[in-house]
Amino acid sequence: MSANEDERIVTPSLRNEDTTVEHALRPKTLDDFIGQDRVRNQIDVLLSAARKRQSPADHILLSGPPGLGKTTLALILASEMQTPIRVTSGPAITHAGDLAAVLSSLVEGEILFLDEIHRLPRPAEELLYLAMEDFRVDVIVGKGPGATAIPLQLPRFTLVGATTRAGLLPSPLRDRFGFTAHLDFYDQKEIENVLVRSAALLGLQIDKESVSEIAGRSRGTPRIANRLLRRVRDLAQVEGGDHLTLAHAKRALEIYEVDDKGLDRLDRSVLSALIERFNGGPVGLSTLAIAVGEETETVESVAEPFLVRNGFMARTPRGRIATPMGWAHLGRKAPAEAPTSLFDTPASDA
Ligand code: ADP
Repeated sequence: MSANEDERIVTPSLRNEDTTVEHALRPKTLDDFIGQDRVRNQIDVLLSAARKRQSPADHILLSGPPGLGKTTLALILASEMQTPIRVTSGPAITHAGDLAAVLSSLVEGEILFLDEIHRLPRPAEELLYLAMEDFRVDVIVGKGPGATAIPLQLPRFTLVGATTRAGLLPSPLRDRFGFTAHLDFYDQKEIENVLVRSAALLGLQIDKESVSEIAGRSRGTPRIANRLLRRVRDLAQVEGGDHLTLAHAKRALEIYEVDDKGLDRLDRSVLSALIERFNGGPVGLSTLAIAVGEETETVESVAEPFLVRNGFMARTPRGRIATPMGWAHLGRKAPAEAPTSLFDTPASDA
């Protein structure tokens, strides 16, 4: 995450300030976990079966955008199974040996939570295949032709992998998970429930209208909802109370420049450059990034997914284009000759 990303109030990634509060707001049981009914039911069955068999659950892959509850679910799995959990991530493992050390220090039944598993280095990934399948790692001793592999038996553990990019996982790895759960963005009602729950935990009183206002700007993401709630709380507290009204919500979100559809300054500047400077496109991603003075990667991984998912912008083989909804959001009307046939063309990285 870039420094710039850490400044954005609507980033779905974890910001430094979130860490302690998130801990307090994290649901601790499956019953407490709001929404994602399909995934919750699947995990419920999986856990009941594992408990009945009195053996560790199958390996589980959790996929979905950041801030939707993957870490929370892994922690819930551990507490429901009453097993310890070890937390690490793909980028934290720089060598296969790091992973071998983690694996060999697990205890029977322990859960290993491997966040951003798609960023695991290749040799570590290969070591994981054997560990997941046979609960074994081969420790290589020596070098060159004299090198020998000494098998090391591991305790039975459950790997819970999390990824924002399931498509990037090689199929031998994906196939070794007994179950893949895909987390989706939450709907308005579910985000409202998250907010009501968090407000109660933070000892705040909050009006219904305020809940729905904040939920509408939270991009279907509990992490963002909780963060916006804290900013509205700040404003209410500065004004001397723990009662959050619609007026507080509107004002706080205005201060932080999150508009009524959840777009922040970066999203709006990308959309506005696309429309004002390139007449709605098509335009290449890097040209667009230069126009808004941002890194290409920031535009690609931060603003674009949100704008595309919400129908403000589309990716076409010829470049990015603004959709009629994108034009309308900036109070403009799409030109009649807008290349509508491009809207349903498959996405590309043009
Ligand atoms: P991820 O690992 O997918 O990035 P997290 O599990 O860290 O996301 O979730 C971010 C925060 O959002 C958590 O601390 C928790 O407070 C909140 N959260 C996520 N999912 C839910 C949910 N289903 N119900 C209530 N709160 C949730």
